[in-house]
Amino acid sequence: MAIRPQGWPYKKEFRCHRCGNCCRGEGTVDLTPSDIRRAAKLLDLSRTGFIRNYCIENESGDVVLKDQGDEEQSCIFLTEENGLAGCRIHEAKPEQCSAFPMRWRPRRAADYCEGMREVLGLPPGALRRTISG
Ligand code: SF4
Ligand code: SF4
Repeated sequence: MAIRPQGWPYKKEFRCHRCGNCCRGEGTVDLTPSDIRRAAKLLDLSRTGFIRNYCIENESGDVVLKDQGDEEQSCIFLTEENGLAGCRIHEAKPEQCSAFPMRWRPRRAADYCEGMREVLGLPPGALRRTISG
């Protein structure tokens, strides 16, 4: 995934539209030890219990969140109600999630992030992400 590490270049305030597209599709949520500690505490689990229930270890040895096994490869913690996406561990959201899109974003993030489209003056209508998108 192409990452753009530079700061947020847009003057307008970013507003998340809760489309949920950053929580589904290709890519993984890589967890830091602190992410694991905070999420496990929120869910009242031990570190081991949290990893066993919600994570996998990828080929590089990183601990990443599982997906829901659906077509869209939705994050295990993604919820949707009345068309609005939510995160079951919002209060202990992993750093990677909190940093999107202001501190990092894939090259084509504006295709699927409704909030970025607004900031950039693009028409609404973000593409819903799938495994290949
Ligand atoms: S942990 Fe929450 S914010 Fe991060 S990808 Fe999963 S549902 Fe989205
Ligand atoms: S893709 Fe953008 S607008 Fe949609 S939920 Fe993620 S941050 Fe919010």
